[in-house]
Amino acid sequence: MSRKTLTGIGAALATVAFAAAAQAQTPAPPAAPAAPAAPAQPPYATTKVQGTDNVYIFRYGGHQSMFIVTPAGVIATDPIGERRPAAKAYIEEIQKITKAPIRYVIYSHSHYDHIAGGQPFKDLGAVFVAHRNAQKRIAALKPADVVVPDQVVDGKKVISLGGTTLELNYVGLNHSDSTLVMRLLKEKIIFTVDWIPVKGIQFRGMADTYVPDIEESLKKVIAMEWETLIPGHPGPGGVQTGTKEDAKNELAYLQDLSAAVKKAVDEGKSYADAQKEIKLPKYESWPNYGPFLPMNIERYYDFWNRGI
Ligand SMILES: [Zn+2]
Repeated sequence: MSRKTLTGIGAALATVAFAAAAQAQTPAPPAAPAAPAAPAQPPYATTKVQGTDNVYIFRYGGHQSMFIVTPAGVIATDPIGERRPAAKAYIEEIQKITKAPIRYVIYSHSHYDHIAGGQPFKDLGAVFVAHRNAQKRIAALKPADVVVPDQVVDGKKVISLGGTTLELNYVGLNHSDSTLVMRLLKEKIIFTVDWIPVKGIQFRGMADTYVPDIEESLKKVIAMEWETLIPGHPGPGGVQTGTKEDAKNELAYLQDLSAAVKKAVDEGKSYADAQKEIKLPKYESWPNYGPFLPMNIERYYDFWNRGI
């Protein structure tokens, strides 16, 4: 979804550039009232999470990351800097708020679009933390521009810094085998990425997602004590946070999808027929329903048809 947004912005910029070039080469047209321009979204922005005095969301393009400011230093999360200078902007945004050192960078999971580009944080002395499986994968694949974690989490780790307690929980297999659910106890906030969207079905073909384990993980997250969800991408209309209701709706979506695909497989339907015939009208107002539902169906079809 983020790539689509970026492509859209790129196309818009290209159009503007083309129009400007065309204008430079041709005589000025007769004066006409200018159409009001739609307000463009700035490339990045920082917002404070409502109801807190020290929890922030840094958004760059279509990705977002939580950070917490304490008197003893800053806990940052995903650098969201794959092939772009997001970390530099991220650090500048933090330093507008505090001059306290950035102590930690915590990876939400192993996927590069969220964790690449952290070197500027490393240069400032931040300690990088991730689930053990993320560290293993990064060490094995050696992706360009991904800092290898210094510390790992297995089941659970608690970071206490300057009066803030952040719990790093591993709830099992879901969108990856390395997803952390970061929970701020006092603030009742969780930050977890790419699998509990605000009003969204799963991304494309659910690459790297474990089915049906993701449903069990979701139940564990719903059972935790929290009120505000920060996902890794803004939802419809740019909304940056969700609620437990969003997590429950996502679980309901996966269960409805799974049941519908199981029925199609039991009836001997082909991939193509399952993709054509299965409709889940309860979720059709979610913005990515149209393009991604057939791909989500294919993922569950493989599970019910072949046990994979
Ligand atoms: Zn991911």
